[in-house]
Amino acid sequence: MSTADTLARALARRIALEGPLTVGAFMAETLGHPRFGYYMKQDPFGAAGDFVTAPEVSQMFGELIGLWCADAWQRLGGPREIHLIELGPGRGTLMADALRAAAILPPFRAAARVHLVETSPHLRERQRAALGAEPTWHDRLDDVPDGPSLVIANEFFDALPIRQVQRTVHGWAERLVDLDPDAPDEDPRFRFVLELGRSPGRNLVPEGLRESPVGSIVEVSPASQSVARLLGERLAAHPGAALVIDYGYGHGPAVGDTLQALRKHAFVPVLESPGDADLTAHVDFASLAAAARDGGAEAYGPVTQGELLLRLGIQQRAQVLKRSATPKQAADIDSALGRLVDGEGMGTLFKALALASPGFGPPAGFEGVS
Ligand code: SAH
Repeated sequence: MSTADTLARALARRIALEGPLTVGAFMAETLGHPRFGYYMKQDPFGAAGDFVTAPEVSQMFGELIGLWCADAWQRLGGPREIHLIELGPGRGTLMADALRAAAILPPFRAAARVHLVETSPHLRERQRAALGAEPTWHDRLDDVPDGPSLVIANEFFDALPIRQVQRTVHGWAERLVDLDPDAPDEDPRFRFVLELGRSPGRNLVPEGLRESPVGSIVEVSPASQSVARLLGERLAAHPGAALVIDYGYGHGPAVGDTLQALRKHAFVPVLESPGDADLTAHVDFASLAAAARDGGAEAYGPVTQGELLLRLGIQQRAQVLKRSATPKQAADIDSALGRLVDGEGMGTLFKALALASPGFGPPAGFEGVS
C-alpha cells in the first residue's frame, strides 16, 4: 500500500477531527476537493471517460440551444449587449456549437458576452481550447456582472451536493458518512450512519413527505435551491431567460435514494472510490422551479428533453446534416438523434426547465407549458 496521500485519507482525517460528514459535504469534497476532487483533476467526459453528456453525443444539441438563445434575445428586443452564461460547461462543446449556430443571427452573435461559471482549473483549460480567449471565467454565478442574461446549465445541478434524511422509528435523521471502524488507517473505507439526537433531519423534509414510512430516504439540495433562487433574482432584476437541462424527477420531491457513482460507464458503490468516480443525484425540478419563482422569475416545465428537442426542430436539423453526410455519418446522426430524444436514451429521464423574466412568456419549446 502506497503512502501517497489520497482523497480517502484526507476525508478520513477530516472525519477523525470533525465527526461524520453530511452526504452534501462528502459530495462537495469528492467532486470539488482542490487537489483530489473528481472534476478538479481530470476530464471525465466522452467515450474514453466515465460518462457521455448530450453535447458530446451530437453537435445538434448545442446548436439548438444556440438558436433558443438567439430567439430569446430577439424576444427581449435585441439588446446591444447580453450576458450569455453557462454553468458547468465541461469541455466547452455545448457553447462552441451554440455560438456557431447563433452566428446565423449576426447582431445576436455580436451582442453576446460569453461567461463560463466553472470551478475546475483543468476544465477551464479544456474550455479555453474549445472557445479561445473570448469567454470570461467565474467561480460562481454571483460573480457574473449584472445585466440582461441568457443562462444555460446542462448536467450542472446533478453535480451539486444533496443532503439525505431517513425516517427511523425515532423520527427523521440525517444520513452521514462515517469511517468504517474495521478498515486499516492506511486504507480507510467509509459507511453510512444515521445521526439520531440533535438532528435537523425533520426540518429538511418537505411537509408533504413527513409522514413517509420508516426507512424512507428523502433528498434535498440546499445548494441547488440557492443557485435557482439566484437565477430567479437575476431574471427579476434584469431581462433574460434560462434553460436548465438535467436528469431527475419532474414532479418531486420524491422519496428515494438517487445518489449514484459512475466510473468508466458503470455504476460503482457511492462510497467506494472518492474522487475517482463521478457522484451525482437526481435533480428535483419542482424545487428548482419553486426556488426560482421565489427569486422572482417565471418558470415553465419541466418538459422532457426529447419533447424540447423535437419542438426545437431536431429532426429537421438532422435531415439537413444528413444531406451532406456519407451513409456511415448519416447512420451516426440517426443514432445520436435517437439517443437524445428516445425514452431508452436520454429523452425522458432528462428534463428541461425554462426560467424567464416576468412578462417574457414561455420561451421557445415551452409554448403551452405551465
Ligand atoms: N455541461 C457539461 C458538463 C457537465 S459536468 C456537459 O454537458 O458536458 C458538470 C460541470 O459542472 C463540470 O464542468 C464541473 O467542473 C462543473 N461544476 C461542478 N460543480 C460546480 C460548482 N459548484 N461550480 C461551478 N462549476 C461546477
